[in-house]
Amino acid sequence: MTKAEKIKETLFETKQRRQNQKPATYQLKLQVKTKKRKTLLNKVFTEAKWLYNHILFNEIDRNPNTANKIFEVNVKVKDHLETRPITLLGSQVKQEIVSRLIDNIIGLKEARINGNKTGTLKPKRYLNSIPLKQYGVTYKLDFSKNRVHIQKLGNFRVLGLRQIPDNCEIASAVLLRKPNGFYLHVTTYQDKVRVSDTTKPISVDFGIENKIFLSNGVSIDFEIPESQRLKRLQRKFSRTKKHSKNREKILWSLRKEYQKLSNIRKDCQNRVVGLLKHYDTVIYQNDAIKGWHEGFFGRQVQHSGIGSIKSRVSATLEPIVLSAKEPTTRECFMCSSKLDISLSDRILICNCGWKAHRDWNAALNMIKKEFDMDPNHILRLGWAEVTPVEWMTYARILDSPYIRVSHHDEAGSSRIYS
Ligand SMILES: [Zn+2]
Repeated sequence: MTKAEKIKETLFETKQRRQNQKPATYQLKLQVKTKKRKTLLNKVFTEAKWLYNHILFNEIDRNPNTANKIFEVNVKVKDHLETRPITLLGSQVKQEIVSRLIDNIIGLKEARINGNKTGTLKPKRYLNSIPLKQYGVTYKLDFSKNRVHIQKLGNFRVLGLRQIPDNCEIASAVLLRKPNGFYLHVTTYQDKVRVSDTTKPISVDFGIENKIFLSNGVSIDFEIPESQRLKRLQRKFSRTKKHSKNREKILWSLRKEYQKLSNIRKDCQNRVVGLLKHYDTVIYQNDAIKGWHEGFFGRQVQHSGIGSIKSRVSATLEPIVLSAKEPTTRECFMCSSKLDISLSDRILICNCGWKAHRDWNAALNMIKKEFDMDPNHILRLGWAEVTPVEWMTYARILDSPYIRVSHHDEAGSSRIYS
C-alpha cells in the first residue's frame, strides 16, 4: 500500500468509528508561572500571526502540502518587509493554519458567487488560537502528572484534566490565548452507549430564580455572584474617551471580569449536565419557562444559563421532552385535580392531603404523565426519593461554592445540604 492509500484508509476508518461516537470538548487551563514561559507562549501566537499574514499576501505559498517547508516569512515593519524565522510552529500546525486560511478564502469566494456582499480578509493584528491536530504528535496529555506536552514548547501543568473521562478517544485541540491566561480546548469522542448508574428516571423542572428541581426532591440553586467589580468597571468605561489608552485598558479588565463570570456559569452548567448523565431517562418539559414569567423573571433565567443547560441536555442525553401544553404545574400529583396557585405559592397544598414544593410537584407530574403511572406506584418504587448512592454522586459532582443543593420531602419541608 502506498502512503496515500494508507492515509485514505485511516480516514475512512475514523469516519466509520465517529458514527457511533459523540464529541465533547473540555477546557484545560495552562499553569504558566514564569515570565519566560509566558513569553515563549506569546511568541508562538506571534509566529502564527506572521505565518497567517504571510500566506494572505503570498499566493505562491498558499498550499497546505508544502506549508511545513516554510521556515521564514516576510513581516511588514513600518513601510518595508523584513524576514523572520518560524521556529516554534510544527509541520502540522503550519499546514493547519494554511488550510484554515484557504478554507476562509474559498468560503468568501463562494459567498460572492452566490451574490452575497463580502468583505476581504485583512491581515491580523492578533491571532489568539492555534490548531493542534493529530493527538500524540502536536500535543499529548499526561494524566498521571497533570501535564500536557506541546510540540516544540515542552511540558505545561494543566488544570481540569479530571473532567476528561477514561473511556474516550482524544482527538484534536486548540491552544487559546484569553485575557486571563492560556487554555487548551481538547476535543474527545465517546461511544454513544449511555453509561448510567440507575434505571430510575429523573425529571427536571427548570424553574425560576436560578433553580432546578428534580423528581427525587432535590433542588439545585445557582448563586452566581453579582460582580461589584464589573459594575465599577462598566461605570469607568462609560466615562473614558474613545480611542484613549485608558479605554483599552479598562476594556481589557472588563473582558477579564466577564470571562470570570462566564467561567463560573459554564462550570455550574457542566456539573448539572454531568449529574443528569447518571440517569437512564431524563425528562423535562419544553419551554415551560415562557408562559410563567416573561419580562422581569426572563432576565434572571437567562443569566444563570438554564437555557444552555436545556439545550446541552437535549444535544447529548437524548431526553424525553414533554409538550408545554401538559399541565404539570397546576395539577395535583396525587389526585390530578386542578389547582389554583399563583407564582408566589411555593408550597402546594391539595384537599386530598398532598403537600409538596410546587416545582417538585411539577417534576413528579412529568414522570406520571410520561409513564402513565399511578402516583402511589411511583412513590413505592422510590422514584421520588434520593438514594444514598445518589447523594454520594451529587456531593461529588455538585461540589461548588456557587451551587446550593437542598432536599424536599412530602411534608413540604426542606433541608439544605450545601
Ligand atoms: Zn390532590
